[in-house]
Amino acid sequence: MSRGFRDADTTQALSDQAVATAIERILDRGRDEALAAASSPEDPRYGRCQDCGGGIGEERLEALPTAIRCVRCQAAWEQSHPY
Ligand SMILES: [Zn+2]
Repeated sequence: MSRGFRDADTTQALSDQAVATAIERILDRGRDEALAAASSPEDPRYGRCQDCGGGIGEERLEALPTAIRCVRCQAAWEQSHPY
């Protein structure tokens, strides 16, 4: 008698799961692209400050391989983006 309800619940649970999986995949892809943008040594932007175009510095890249700004520009950026 309750079989119809069970099936409906199962379908709902499956579709919730499918939505969650799809969202996770989209978020994952966005993060991967953000990382790939700055952290691939083959990318011409790698190791270059995106603000001033100067070198970011090996030490800084070693500490933070995804750095996209040199220390000076990062400090300036953080001051203008306090949040
Ligand atoms: Zn810079």
